[in-house]
Amino acid sequence: MSGNRGILVVVSGFSGAGKGTLMKELMAKYDNYALSVSMTTREPRPGEVDGVSYFFVKESAFEEAIAQDGLVEYAKYQKNYYGTPKKWVEEQLDGGKDVILEIEIQGALKVKEKMPETLLLFVMPPSAAELKRRLTGRGTETAEEIQGRLERAVEESEGIEQYDFIVVNDRLEECAARMHEIIQTAHKRPEFNREFINQFKEELKALPKGEK
Ligand code: 5GP
Repeated sequence: MSGNRGILVVVSGFSGAGKGTLMKELMAKYDNYALSVSMTTREPRPGEVDGVSYFFVKESAFEEAIAQDGLVEYAKYQKNYYGTPKKWVEEQLDGGKDVILEIEIQGALKVKEKMPETLLLFVMPPSAAELKRRLTGRGTETAEEIQGRLERAVEESEGIEQYDFIVVNDRLEECAARMHEIIQTAHKRPEFNREFINQFKEELKALPKGEK
C-alpha cells in the first residue's frame, strides 16, 4: 500500500555465503528496495568504492558517530567497527522504501530489540563445504583470515534460530526471488497495516445496527 512506511529488513549470513551478490541481484530485479551503506573502520578491498560499498572511516570518526547517536546499531567484527547510519535509514523508511541492512548477527539482534517489527533473514550456503569453497575462491582474504571467518561462522550458526526466515543461496536468481517473496509477504503482517485495520474497526463499529 502506498503511503505506508517501509519495512526494515536485516540480512545476515556467514562471510562467504554470497550475500553481496544476492543483494545486487535483488536491487537489480526489483523496485522499492534501498540498500543501506554501512560505516566501517576496515581497509577497502580491491574494487570497493568509498560511499558505495561502505563509508570507510578512521576509528576516531566512527567513535564520533557513536557519540552523536548517529548509528542504528554497530558492532565490532574481526577487530573492525561496522555500523548503520541512522538518518538515511529513517528517511528511506519514511519514504516507503523497504530498507535492507546487510549486517552481522550482533547488530541484527540489537536492531530487532530496538525495532521488534524488523524482519530478520539469514542467508545460508547449501552446505558447510560450499561455504569454505566460496571463501577460498574469492581470493580476497589470507588463509588466516579465512580461518577466522570460519570460526566466526561456527559461533554465528548458534544464532540462526533467532531469525525469522532462512534463505538457502543455491541458485542466485531463485534465491533473490524467494527473498523478495518473503519481504512482500511480510507486508501483509498486521503490524505493517495498522492504519487500515484501525480504520476498518472504526467503520465496523459505526455500521448501522438492525438492518439486513
Ligand atoms: P565484510 O568485512 O566482509 O565486508 O563484512 C564483515 C561482516 O560485517 C559481514 O557479516 C557484514 O554483514 C557485517 N556488516 C557490514 N556492515 C555492518 C553494519 O553496519 N553493522 C553490523 N553490525 N555489521 C555489519
